Amino acid sequence: MNEIEQTDVAIIGAGPVGLFATFACGMVGLKCHVIDALDHIGGQCTALYPEKPIYDIPAYPKILGGDLITQLEAQAKPFAPVYHLSQQAVRLSGEVNQWRVTTSNHKTIACKAIIIAAGAGAFGPHKPPLENLEDFEGTSVFYAVRQRDQFRGKKIIIAGGGDSAVDWAISLSDIASVTLVHRRDQFRAHTSSLLKLHALIDAGKITLKTPYQLKALEGENGHINHVVLSDLDGHDERVAADILLAFFGLSHDLGPLKEWGLGVTAKYIPIDPATAATSQAGIFAVGDIATYPHKLKLIATGFAEAAQAAHAIRAQIYPDQDFHFEYSTTKGLPA
Ligand SMILES: Cc1cc2nc3c(=O)[nH]c(=O)nc-3n(C[C@H](O)[C@H](O)[C@H](O)COP(=O)(O)OP(=O)(O)OC[C@H]3O[C@@H](n4cnc5c(N)ncnc54)[C@H](O)[C@@H]3O)c2cc1C
Repeated sequence: MNEIEQTDVAIIGAGPVGLFATFACGMVGLKCHVIDALDHIGGQCTALYPEKPIYDIPAYPKILGGDLITQLEAQAKPFAPVYHLSQQAVRLSGEVNQWRVTTSNHKTIACKAIIIAAGAGAFGPHKPPLENLEDFEGTSVFYAVRQRDQFRGKKIIIAGGGDSAVDWAISLSDIASVTLVHRRDQFRAHTSSLLKLHALIDAGKITLKTPYQLKALEGENGHINHVVLSDLDGHDERVAADILLAFFGLSHDLGPLKEWGLGVTAKYIPIDPATAATSQAGIFAVGDIATYPHKLKLIATGFAEAAQAAHAIRAQIYPDQDFHFEYSTTKGLPA
């Protein structure tokens, strides 16, 4: 069923700049719906470096990526943005003041303007190149753990060599039988996690398979029963398993946005920096995806672009109203 929701502005991308755009639109009286392919807000800050300190956010001498997102979410909250997560914006139709954005979950947002804050594109998991992977996705094959308890008592293969693979192997070894598979002998994870991992391997609580890679999945009706691994010499080993957790990092892809007639070149959308307007009336772009001469790809730059876009959209939607610019100190926030 195609659900239709109405709003003033559809924002594509809930990264730091999309979140600040939500606030900036709220400040000029515009309601927003925000779409993101990820199942959480925060874009690169939460997906790639939640625990790294950022030093060039105005007024924060130092703030962790994840904490910046918490602050931006709180700042936008008084304007009650509606978030549509775990879905990609895939289709555009309509015209200025009557745009429609449809998501991969068949949700349609009818809006007067669109702000594209899509960074480098929709994030998604890097998937292992296994023939029948799709048959098992969501039932036996997962790329993230939402509810740890769902895996209680299972035989789990965890594949990957970074923090996610190591941390989940440690965490799930308490409640499940865990085999950790990596194509190298070394893991790229925090030293403290590696110490715990090796202690659990030594105690027989985690089985380690290195250097091995995934070769095939066996099973039926969406449920795997074995995972075939192969070593670097091409020897195969069938390991009994109910679940495969694959942690191979995130990829990003502009995907359908390239077909929206916005003159995308080399993954960027050209804009007029005075308004963040793209070549299509009523469609604006801000943050990493927006480009113009001498553009600096910084969060602070994206924030300023978001404020420019919000004011331009206000003027587009209400062309006959005089809009008196006011400082937030004068105007305040909604009660
Ligand atoms: C390790 C690292 C350190 C960094 N340190 C700094 C720093 O110190 N200072 C600084 O200023 N910058 C830093 N950056 C850069 C900064 O993170 C980016 O400039 C910023 O995240 C851009 O924000 P954004 O909102 O434009 O895009 P993003 O953060 O990339 O967010 C875009 C969001 O849009 C979503 N999306 C894209 N396409 C679609 C679609 N079609 N449908 C639905 N959702 C979609 C994506 O899933 C994503 O969540 C760093 C980056 C990295 C990787």
